[in-house]
Amino acid sequence: MIWYPYEQMKTMKAPYSVVDAEGVFLYTKDRKLIDSVSSWWSVIHGYKHPVINRAIEEQLHRFAHVMLGGLTHEPVQALSDKLQSWLPGDLDCCFFSDSGSVAVEVALKMALQYYINRGETGRTKILALEHAYHGDTFKTMEAGDDEDYHFVLKAYGKSPHVIHIPTSIPALEEAFSRYHGELNCFLAEPLLQGAGGMRMYDLSFLKRAKELCSRYGVLLIFDEVATGFGRTGNRFVADLVLPDILVLGKALTGGYIGHAVTVASRRVYEGFYDDNPSHALMHGPTFMGNALACSAALASIQLFESQNYMSKIRKIEEITRREMKGFSHPFVKEIRIMGACICIEVHDPSHIRGYQEFAYERGVFSRPFLNYLYAMVPYVIGEEELVKVLRTMKEWFAALPA
Ligand SMILES: *Cc1c(COP(=O)(O)O)cnc(C)c1O
Repeated sequence: MIWYPYEQMKTMKAPYSVVDAEGVFLYTKDRKLIDSVSSWWSVIHGYKHPVINRAIEEQLHRFAHVMLGGLTHEPVQALSDKLQSWLPGDLDCCFFSDSGSVAVEVALKMALQYYINRGETGRTKILALEHAYHGDTFKTMEAGDDEDYHFVLKAYGKSPHVIHIPTSIPALEEAFSRYHGELNCFLAEPLLQGAGGMRMYDLSFLKRAKELCSRYGVLLIFDEVATGFGRTGNRFVADLVLPDILVLGKALTGGYIGHAVTVASRRVYEGFYDDNPSHALMHGPTFMGNALACSAALASIQLFESQNYMSKIRKIEEITRREMKGFSHPFVKEIRIMGACICIEVHDPSHIRGYQEFAYERGVFSRPFLNYLYAMVPYVIGEEELVKVLRTMKEWFAALPA
C-alpha cells in the first residue's frame, strides 16, 4: 500500500487518480482538470512538454545514470556551465542532489564547515525565519519553523542551534547584535515563504540582512527551492540581493525528475579548496547529477530563456490582480499576490474545507492547506484557464453562507 504525504491515512479521502497529463491539464478517468498547484510548484512548463520529453529521451538512449564519484558526463557538465553563467554574481560552484531538502542540508553543512575549516568552531548557530519551511529532513525541520509539519521535533526540546526571527528589520538587527559571533549563516526563503503559508515580505528586509551578513562575516543562504525560476516575478530573488549560497530545486527540472542544486559562491568554495584532505566537503547523494534530470533541467532553462518566461509571469500577475480587484469576503483575512503566486488567507480553516471537491467539480485541481487557499499555476497557462482558476476561488466564497 501507499503511505501518502501529510495525511492521516485513517480519515484521508481517496486521492484523484491521474491517467494522463498534458499542458496545464491533469486527466482523471472522467475529468479534465486545470492544475493550479503545478505539482507542488514544480511543473512550470506544463506536462508532457515536447522539448523536455525529447531531451530526456535522447539522453535515455545514451545512459540514464552514472554516479559522480570518480565519473562525470556531458549533461551534468553542461548544466553546471549553464548555471554558472546564468546565475548572478559568482554563484559558480554547483553541488547537485536529489531533492530540495537534501540541497538545503548541503547548504547548512557547507556553512558550518566553512567556518570549521577556518578554525572558527564556535559558529554553530543558524539564523532563520519564523514560519520558515526548508524541507522535511531533520536539520531542515530544525531550521524550519512550522509545527504543523514538524511538531515531532518537540520531542527533543528547543534546538540550541537555530534562532528564529520574524521578517522585521528591528528583529533582524537585534539577532545580529546578540548572536553575530555564533552564527554561521542566515537562511531564508527570500520574499515568499511557501509552505509556511505563502507569506510575502519586503525586499528591504533582505537588503538589510545582506548588509549585516557582510559586516559580521555570516553566510547568506537563499532557499529558492520554491521561489526560483520566476515564481516571485523575479527570475531569482538572488538577482536582487546576492547570497553566498543559493539552493534550487522543484522547478529546476521543470518538475520532471526530482533534482536540486546547492550553488556556492567562489568565497565559500575557496573555504574548502586547499591541501588539507579533511577540508573536503564530505557529501555525495547517490543520484546527484543524474543524467536524465540534468538533461531535463537544461531543456527547462533553455525554454525559460527562449520563450521569454518572465513576460508570461508578468502577464499572470497582471491577470491575477485584475481578477481579484475589489474582491473581499468576511471570511477572508488577506489576499496576497506576488508574481505567479496568489494566496487567499481565511480566518478559519473550516472556511475552505470542501474547496478541493468544489473546484474538482468545476474542472480545477487545487490543494488548500490550513488557512491558505492558493494557486501557483504553470507559467504556460492561457488567460482563459487562469481566469477559471481565479473565478472558481471567488465563486467558492460567493456560495458560502455569510
Ligand atoms: C519544497 C521545499 C523544500 C524541500 O524540497 P523537497 O524536494 O521536497 O525535499 C525546501 N525548501 C523550500 C522553500 C521548499 O518549498
